Amino acid sequence: MTEILASVVRGACPHDCPDTCALLTTVENGRAVKVQGNPAHALTDGVLCTKVSRYTERTYHPERVLTPLRRVGPKGAGQFEPVDWDEALDDIAARLQAIAARDPQAILPYSYAGTMGLVQGESISARFFHQLGASLLDRTICASAGAEGLTQTLGNKVGMKVQFFAESQLIVIWGSNSIGSNLHFWRIAQEAKRQGARLVCIDPRKTETADKCHEHIALKPGTDAALALAVMHELITHGWLDQDYIDRYTLGWSGLRERAMQWSPERAAEVCGVPALQIRRLARDWGTTKPAAIRLNYGMQRVRGGGNAVRAIACLPALTGAWRHRAGGLLMSSSGHFPVRRAALQRPDLLGERRPRTINMSTIGDDLLREASPAFGPKIEALVVYNSNPVAVAPESGKVVQGFAREDLFTVVLEHFRTDTADHADYILPATTQLEHWDIHTTYGHTDVLLNQPAIAPVGQARTNTDIFRALATRMGFSDPCFAETDEQLCRLAIGDEQDFAVLLEHGFASLPVPDAPFAEGNFPTPSGQCEFFSQRLVDMGLDGLPDHLPNHEVPGSDARYPLAMISPPARHFLNSTFVNVQSLRDIESEPVLEIHPQDAEARGIADGAVVEVFNDRGCYCCKARVSERARPGVVNGMGIWWRKLGLNGTNVNELTSQKLTDLGRAPVFYDCLVQVRRSPATPAC
Ligand code: SF4
Repeated sequence: MTEILASVVRGACPHDCPDTCALLTTVENGRAVKVQGNPAHALTDGVLCTKVSRYTERTYHPERVLTPLRRVGPKGAGQFEPVDWDEALDDIAARLQAIAARDPQAILPYSYAGTMGLVQGESISARFFHQLGASLLDRTICASAGAEGLTQTLGNKVGMKVQFFAESQLIVIWGSNSIGSNLHFWRIAQEAKRQGARLVCIDPRKTETADKCHEHIALKPGTDAALALAVMHELITHGWLDQDYIDRYTLGWSGLRERAMQWSPERAAEVCGVPALQIRRLARDWGTTKPAAIRLNYGMQRVRGGGNAVRAIACLPALTGAWRHRAGGLLMSSSGHFPVRRAALQRPDLLGERRPRTINMSTIGDDLLREASPAFGPKIEALVVYNSNPVAVAPESGKVVQGFAREDLFTVVLEHFRTDTADHADYILPATTQLEHWDIHTTYGHTDVLLNQPAIAPVGQARTNTDIFRALATRMGFSDPCFAETDEQLCRLAIGDEQDFAVLLEHGFASLPVPDAPFAEGNFPTPSGQCEFFSQRLVDMGLDGLPDHLPNHEVPGSDARYPLAMISPPARHFLNSTFVNVQSLRDIESEPVLEIHPQDAEARGIADGAVVEVFNDRGCYCCKARVSERARPGVVNGMGIWWRKLGLNGTNVNELTSQKLTDLGRAPVFYDCLVQVRRSPATPAC
């Protein structure tokens, strides 16, 4: 009998999820056979979501790209031939060099959180583009409005420690389907519920999480700031304030007080589309329950006023002194607690005196179609895409596709699969998955650092992102010694001496020394050290120093042709566009779906399961109607994010979303979108 050589390797989940689970990968004879949650890591507790528990299916997927591929057909047709690494890298380097000789800003890196790892994310790649002098990318596509709102209020992306939600008596889950996208927080919230906590969910969609909370407040998309201001109104009116905390640890109270008093529950009820009684009940709960905590997530900031909404909500814990208790306060992101050495990792100093332009990743559709001009600079001639699938995930994808289809655009895509974006590449370079490389992870949902060690050798001819950019750097003649640093060295460099690397090697994770109640006595990382209801920095930018409700760009009722508001939350078994090609997960999701309220469906003669066209001036998306009270009247939920080529008519929900931006953070407004829906005719119009 053949002996099986087995081992278990510690790692970290790489996906864009606040839980950042600790993984254990079982390897037999060099092949990963199982990926599990590490039971020794308290927050993971041995449990993974359905998506990542299928990670071996993804790693050994029959459609994995295993060799470099070179385009042989028209742009976007997805026709490629295998090519050897040296030939591919030589040609890519030569073509980038030729463009850089004219103007390196004509080259654009495009990347996001396909991996959240600091090393395979932005390390050698950033060094490469800095040395080259390429355009900089403003990485805004997911969270920058909320991040800016939080930073302008609390001073950084900081908050309470997630484990202490277990001791809260009131948990407000605001803009988050925790069961689908923050599973380990949900387990903690369940623990609190068992101990008697009240759970309130605020979300336009009646999510699986809303089903299991005591109360669901189904407000209209983009009205969260109005709701928060009306809660403040009630806190003031009923004297449910911690005046001592306000006096000692906040800035701008009199201005905020005046602003909040303009928002009676009746006024907010009109704007939010919820009963005034429900707003009063939320305010009473928040004002009279201790400890009380808010789990705020990024869904609600994908609208014009998203930054202001986060600011308004982030003021609530200071008003009631919720921060005094370790189980009170707010958590949106914990990433600002981590002392990451980004400058050492990414080396912006390699730019020298050069100051390249910055392109916003959320307007890539428009920017790929721009000609050279004094205002814009050179036309984009080359794109290098890694850790991202912009053709599927960027807004107004009709324009994105048009841009990627430019025959004069040279596109290189580092990928695991032939995604919608990879189909538009000139070269696809096979990249390693998390089981095949080193990385180190901070997180935005808790306060532990995790180390990812490679469990298996690269599959096929896959190479790490770092290795690919090192190889290109060599060919471009970049001789700075920083390009020779190994991935393990980069892992150590990323966190410096703050963490004992030996502990990470042995256990796979280590906790940051964050105080249990970090803001019990103020000490916010703002310029004033206080929770800044009023922000002078915003005033200096020409903006309102106090939070306010800003109506959506596309307010329902403003255009009779498009009477429905649409949001596009993630389907439960996908993570952005990742996992859509994993058959067992796609089988669960079945087909691209639009949830529509029975009243809205009936008015349009739409039956459950009917093929519908969802459309506006930007495009038309074909999918199946799911007639359901998960959608509130007047709002449809376009569940995302399907790969376009796996959809019903080669489109996805981003065909409809716009490239308009948020009030703060220059972020996209995916949930600020008006549409109309009709039954699909026998010959579909789109
Ligand atoms: S996606 Fe989130 S819940 Fe799932 S394994 Fe990764 S970190 Fe954990």
